[in-house]
Amino acid sequence: MGLEQLWQLQEIDLAIKALEEEEEHTPLRQELQTATEKVERLRAELAGDEEALKNQRKRLKKLEMDLQQNSDNRAALRKRLYGGEVSNVRELEQMEVKLGLLEKEQQAQEDEALELMEAIESGDAELRGKAARLKEEENNRRIKETELDEALKRIAAGLEQLRRQREELAARIEPRLMERYQLLAQKHGGQALARVAEDICGGCGVLISSAQRGFLYNPEALVYCESCGRLLVKLSDHDQTG
Ligand SMILES: [Zn+2]
Repeated sequence: MGLEQLWQLQEIDLAIKALEEEEEHTPLRQELQTATEKVERLRAELAGDEEALKNQRKRLKKLEMDLQQNSDNRAALRKRLYGGEVSNVRELEQMEVKLGLLEKEQQAQEDEALELMEAIESGDAELRGKAARLKEEENNRRIKETELDEALKRIAAGLEQLRRQREELAARIEPRLMERYQLLAQKHGGQALARVAEDICGGCGVLISSAQRGFLYNPEALVYCESCGRLLVKLSDHDQTG
């Protein structure tokens, strides 16, 4: 009757289904996605920080030039103020005021420059820390990628082997039986056949009626569970443990 072969076929089909589901729902895909997002976020953050540091350095350079200019201006002013060339009191007073303003400006520029230097220093340290973290996250992402890759390869190889086995087995089973199996499998989520152990249907757990029981020993009979409708298989003893 080929019921044992059909049972084997069902086992293969269920294994194929399990692998297909694993392929579709493997958590590794999501893990890789999460790791990739982390890397991208950190990269963007790092680029933003680098840009900010660059601007701070630019501003510091500008301040240093301004300070030099200020220093030159003050020197020139002092030379005129104390050089004795100018004797006009009003003009001298104006120069004093100007000098005072330049000194104030110098103070402000120096304060800002100092603040910037500190910010650049701590920004640099933070950047180095982030760069190290990015390296770690990139490494983690690569590991996840490899894990997914290997899992998918393993699944693909498993599927290929199972499909080949199925093809060989299906060729040896009567078409009529195959048709019956396909219909029942559709109806029962792939579990067309139920194994009988100790007179209980392995599909639904209901006791097989005594009338049905007798047919189970007839190799020519197709016996269905009266409760769930599955095709019952009574495997020979050496298969029962499988
Ligand atoms: Zn049943």
